[in-house]
Amino acid sequence: MATKIGVLAVQGDFSKHIEAYESAGVPAHSLREVRTVEDLAEVDRLTIPGGESSTVGLLLERYGLGPAIIERASAGMPVWGTCMGMILMASDVEDREQYRLGLLDITVRRNAFGAQVHSFEDEVGVAGLDQPVMGVFIRAPIVTRVGPGVEVLSTYDDKVVGVRSGSCLGTSYHPELTSDTRLHEWFLTF
Ligand code: GLN
Repeated sequence: MATKIGVLAVQGDFSKHIEAYESAGVPAHSLREVRTVEDLAEVDRLTIPGGESSTVGLLLERYGLGPAIIERASAGMPVWGTCMGMILMASDVEDREQYRLGLLDITVRRNAFGAQVHSFEDEVGVAGLDQPVMGVFIRAPIVTRVGPGVEVLSTYDDKVVGVRSGSCLGTSYHPELTSDTRLHEWFLTF
């Protein structure tokens, strides 16, 4: 079976990830929107987009997709979450009881840049990339605890905004909202 890249398409900016992979040269037939357990079974890696983590978490739990993602990830499937995606991948969310996949041993703080600063852009370094990326932050989370074995990839203003653990990647920012496809290309090497 040819490699298929899944993008969780329950809610949020999933179409932007599909476009980013297409710009990175991935043929449309290798991309799949994932809404069900059956869709997930057809992909080799998964990207979880930005959106609203409490809503999507509820849906993942209710329709069995969350446990299926956890099972696949523990068998080695690479997973990358941007913003909401990273929140869902965390093991803990500060001050909230919401559904979590627990794929990254981190604690996240939602909407961590404050009510006045819902959204901004600035350059962010990424360990392993020669040049920084343009970080688009939209009501973005930060990582407030990094467990053993979790590598910090990006910081902004001394806050952790990018992490990797094995084949799981989490970014507070949204590379899919820029024309820079380096992170999408990099994730395909995981
Ligand atoms: N603030 C959203 C949440 O907590 C995440 C925002 C985003 O994905 N851009 O779920």
